[in-house]
Amino acid sequence: MTTVLFRGGTAYTKGELIRSDVLVRDGVVAGLGPSIGEPADEVVDATDCIVSPGLIDTHTHVYHGAFRLGIRADRIAARGGTTTWVDAGTAGAGAFQGLIQQVKETSRVRVVPFINLSFMGLANAGLMTREVGELWDASYADVRAILRANEENPGEIKGIKLRASSNALADNASSVLPQARFIADELDVPLMVHIGMSPPTIEEVTSHLVEGDILTHCFHPHAGGRITDRDGRVRPCVRDAIERGVRLDVGHGVASISHRVVMQCLEQGVLPDSLSSDIHAENVGWPIRSQLTVVEMFLALGLSLTDVLERATAKPAGMIGRPDLGVLEVGSPADLAVLRLVEGEYEKQDSTGHTLAFTQRLECLGAYRDGVLIPPADGPDEFRPSPWLTRFGAMPPQEEEKK
Ligand SMILES: [Zn+2]
Repeated sequence: MTTVLFRGGTAYTKGELIRSDVLVRDGVVAGLGPSIGEPADEVVDATDCIVSPGLIDTHTHVYHGAFRLGIRADRIAARGGTTTWVDAGTAGAGAFQGLIQQVKETSRVRVVPFINLSFMGLANAGLMTREVGELWDASYADVRAILRANEENPGEIKGIKLRASSNALADNASSVLPQARFIADELDVPLMVHIGMSPPTIEEVTSHLVEGDILTHCFHPHAGGRITDRDGRVRPCVRDAIERGVRLDVGHGVASISHRVVMQCLEQGVLPDSLSSDIHAENVGWPIRSQLTVVEMFLALGLSLTDVLERATAKPAGMIGRPDLGVLEVGSPADLAVLRLVEGEYEKQDSTGHTLAFTQRLECLGAYRDGVLIPPADGPDEFRPSPWLTRFGAMPPQEEEKK
């Protein structure tokens, strides 16, 4: 029997921040209380820290080795506190089994695989010297291949991913969107749709979405595919989708975030459900340090600490059908993040070049899965800039912090 005691911190539990120790026994939360006297094998000093459920990132690319876009999640977990990583359709049916056997089953973090509707997945991304969309040829939308992948890997497909922007599917939306709907219904999993450059229009995309589906890159700035109109109003089709239970996922990335769109939406009471990063080899280190880059951005834009923590833990846990992972309660798995707010002068840029200045940053002092510490990584990040993004003016990594 192994016990770990997190002493002297503030626990984020049941939606509140309360002064509480946290006792973990054999990978499970065994006690919460202001002063747990029980002796433990290991004591972690959590003074001035928040002990939160491990963060859940609903949009990442962690299929390393086989896909150039993929990074090793274990290397980033310690600095961001993210213990559950949704791989958002890096693999299609053509390479899905490798994601399970070589990444999910060998990682310290939890990996939750969403499969790409395109048979080739994102094999093209960042690899070819010219951009080629995974569904420019609609015959790559092979639902029978996904059914076969599901038979060969029972229970492993947790969602369907479709990139519904012109760079990914040209003008094939009218044929591939119904197929994405069909296969998500058939497997009874959420459909995550990336939005971006039009076509298709946001109206066309949302017309295919039902309760539990996920709209990712929801605050991107590109006209036509954006959730706001030219005057900054949230479009009626998006309000209707939210009403039906469609979830808004940030998917920050490189080209997919506009501070202005975020602010316009927040002013109109439209908040994201999940603060995801879209971290991958083309943005790790810059502009995405970890999922905390996204969490502290929403803190800077006016959400409270409990608001942002809920959107990085409990809400995304519900979206992936694992509510047990997003809570810190006696009996829940001890996936934990020890976080600390640090005051300073910071800034970050969005995809349009807008700079946001802010004064509170979040640091992670330790990430634990099932009560076991995930060690920090040595060496540089696995940053691999995309040949075509570089050509179109994306910037090299740079120091994000203003001294
Ligand atoms: Zn992505």
